[in-house]
Amino acid sequence: MLVVDQNRCVGCGICITLCPEAMTLEKEKGFAKILMERLDCIRKAMLACPQKAIKEIKDKLIIAIGTDDHKTIKSNDHVGQSVYFQILEYSEGNLVFKETRENPKYQEDETKVHGDPGKARATASVLAGVDVLVGKIMGPNIVRLKNQFVCAIIREKDIAAAMDIIKANICAIVQEKNKTSGKERSGIILK
Ligand code: SF4
Repeated sequence: MLVVDQNRCVGCGICITLCPEAMTLEKEKGFAKILMERLDCIRKAMLACPQKAIKEIKDKLIIAIGTDDHKTIKSNDHVGQSVYFQILEYSEGNLVFKETRENPKYQEDETKVHGDPGKARATASVLAGVDVLVGKIMGPNIVRLKNQFVCAIIREKDIAAAMDIIKANICAIVQEKNKTSGKERSGIILK
């Protein structure tokens, strides 16, 4: 699926000049948008874009959001302390709910500066198959978890609104997930 990376697009309009039938400029937001997948002209726009902001996303992603109540992102503690994880699947521009997983109870040793490895293992076991872990706060175990998942922070509390933010940032998420070996992953902030 072709998408405009909102974090790279500067709104210059070159793509719209080359492909007016399939692309438009969202002037209020300041970035371009794809209206329809006209591959012939969008590929021309892709090559001409000075920001390399038009991307083809083929990845399917499994995304976990930490929550205590199924509606809001856990905000009174870090994501590893969530009661549940809402599991979502991203594919072809759609983000849909798949299942809820219960987080195993584990008494974390909070005196450890870089997090309790036992807690990191417990969190990772319930998140088997997950590509992206989303929370409002990451604990010190981010030093371990970021090697297993893209660790993404969203300030928004409401999960439905957070799903829109995830879709808007899908290029940044995929880029982080596909970092080649030798490049260390970082936690990313989704706006
Ligand atoms: S050419 Fe690239 S940077 Fe310019 S508006 Fe289009 S997508 Fe954005």
